Amino acid sequence: MKRVLITGAAGFLGSHLCDRFIKEGYSVIGMDNLITGDLKNIEHLFKLKEFEFYHHDVSKFVYVPGELHYILHFASPASPIDYLKIPIQTLKVGSLGTHNLLGLAKAKNARILVASTSEVYGDPMVHPQPEDYWGHVNPIGPRGVYDEAKRFQEAITMAYHNFHGLETRIVRIFNTYGPRMRLNDGRVLPAFIGQALRGEDLTVFGDGTQTRSFCYVDDLIEGIYRLLMSDYHLPVNIGNPDEITIAEFGEEIIKLTGANQQLVFHPLPTDDPKQRQPDISRAKSILGWEPTINRSEGLKRTYAYFKSLTPEELHRTAHRFA
Ligand code: UDP
Repeated sequence: MKRVLITGAAGFLGSHLCDRFIKEGYSVIGMDNLITGDLKNIEHLFKLKEFEFYHHDVSKFVYVPGELHYILHFASPASPIDYLKIPIQTLKVGSLGTHNLLGLAKAKNARILVASTSEVYGDPMVHPQPEDYWGHVNPIGPRGVYDEAKRFQEAITMAYHNFHGLETRIVRIFNTYGPRMRLNDGRVLPAFIGQALRGEDLTVFGDGTQTRSFCYVDDLIEGIYRLLMSDYHLPVNIGNPDEITIAEFGEEIIKLTGANQQLVFHPLPTDDPKQRQPDISRAKSILGWEPTINRSEGLKRTYAYFKSLTPEELHRTAHRFA
């Protein structure tokens, strides 16, 4: 049985990856320091003998006994609110954490995939964003702690590939949504759904003309799985190119939830990118991957998840790390 280490295992993407690798017949080690993750997301896996959990901060030396075949590094705060609250940890997990995991991969002769982000493109001057665009990033702005940690992560991952011959993969993840997002994580979808559920108006930042392109989590996990299994070491964008303005997105959530509320406009946060859409030509040609779940289906599934939570669970997802 092949063994895989998944960092950030109790988070939104990490927990879905754990499920996927268990389903594929792997033995999974989940690792998380639980700062932004929630054990509730992986509670169902604890009864399985193929699953182990290590409560550990990967910014410190990482020790895993026994064989390891794959490492997926998904530990990081990933929403602007989180990394504004814990900027130093955000920098450390992307830099020191990545270094530790690359060292572990080298020691175990394992293949490693690191989670990068569309934030490496910053507030992009090229649209849509292909992988060979170098980006337009403010290193000292509020998003700099995340963006530059992820850019450093890509640099050190490429260095381990080139210098040590390590098998590395880099996925650049665009906005993704689905079950297990935290209601209060600051991202636009949980913010809007939470507001709809509480009967509050939906807070649009800026004039709502900024765009994003939202990918349903199952599509993203499929793309990551294919990338890990491929022999391609350069960065690959994974996301859904279906672009929408944030104001239109708010209207869609109002329609979906049947809420009577309206959009209310708040100031745009500093360095909030004006547009974002992945160019997924590379993923299509190298991985044969493209998204299959459209926004209306994905939003239905996500809303059903939030509605199915008990009041205690809703409270937990709304107030964790508040
Ligand atoms: N946004 C918004 N209202 C909210 C939360 C976010 O209008 O309550 C906007 C935010 O300013 C950004 C977009 O929605 O333009 C996506 O924000 P998110 O934090 O989800 O992701 P990112 O900015 O990292 O793409």
